[in-house]
Amino acid sequence: MNQEIAFQSVCSVSNEIKFEKLNLVKIDNKTYWVCCSRCRAKLISNSNILRFATDPFSNKKLDKATAIIKQNPKNIGTVLYFKTKDNATKFNLEREKL
Ligand SMILES: [Zn+2]
Repeated sequence: MNQEIAFQSVCSVSNEIKFEKLNLVKIDNKTYWVCCSRCRAKLISNSNILRFATDPFSNKKLDKATAIIKQNPKNIGTVLYFKTKDNATKFNLEREKL
């Protein structure tokens, strides 16, 4: 599939790929990146929800801080989070079979 997206170029709140420099937020010793002060406030106040995503291959919950990040082929400019590289590859293979 497409390349892995660098963690520090994705806003953890909007899940959008950003081209400007993002701001770091530390929660529970994990690092997240946000694009603006509104996203920062949202992430901090809803950290139990916004820090996590669902791997579209395994349907398992994961922490965005440790995810493999790929472009979302169905929604350009946004990303999908995978638990492992293997999941990202398998997700792509299944899509190609369709
Ligand atoms: Zn943002």
